[in-house]
Amino acid sequence: MPYTYDDQNIFAKILRGEIPNDTVLETEHSLAFNDIQPQAPVHVLVIPKGPYVCYDHFAQTASDAEIADYTRTIGEVCKLKGVEDGGFRMISNAGDNGVQEVPHLHVHILGGRPLGRMLE
Ligand code: C5P
Repeated sequence: MPYTYDDQNIFAKILRGEIPNDTVLETEHSLAFNDIQPQAPVHVLVIPKGPYVCYDHFAQTASDAEIADYTRTIGEVCKLKGVEDGGFRMISNAGDNGVQEVPHLHVHILGGRPLGRMLE
């Protein structure tokens, strides 16, 4: 499906430096920062720097370099935050049914406490 990117969304403003963020890691194509309303001791958002609405949009149109960078950045953040041993959860909400609030692709990395069962 075709996606229209809204460049006034809050993550686009963060990427342009118009709104501050608590950066965890920045790479050529990705930015990771602490969520402002953390739901767990570790709650990091990882976003691509390119204008992608959701994972499907990214997977269909991003370059291989962007996809590799994004995937590796997510892994690197897990290492930096030390959640690999205890375990963690990755979530990417998409669209209305997924209750995506910010229309710029982001993966939530949650960890640092038992997270409970998500799917019954
Ligand atoms: O997946 P969803 O779109 O619902 O999540 C958006 C996330 O962005 C929320 O967890 C919210 O706390 C976070 N956020 C942020 N910094 C902002 C605005 C929103 O970390 N300036």
